[in-house]
Amino acid sequence: MAVPKGKVSRARRDKRRSSHWKLETPGLVACPKCGALRLPHRMCKECGTYNGRQVKVIKSNVAAE
Ligand SMILES: [Zn+2]
Repeated sequence: MAVPKGKVSRARRDKRRSSHWKLETPGLVACPKCGALRLPHRMCKECGTYNGRQVKVIKSNVAAE
């Protein structure tokens, strides 16, 4: 089994992890139809569309159609 050759110093360990945190929330894009923020490659929660296609009928949206 692989065994670490030596102790990794706090400085080296922390330097390695310095890029592990993210400043902003990952992957939020605006829906092309309603402009609400949604996750990429996911259906829009607000209007129920994906790729310009109605995937799910949202109750509050039915009257607008
Ligand atoms: Zn939408």
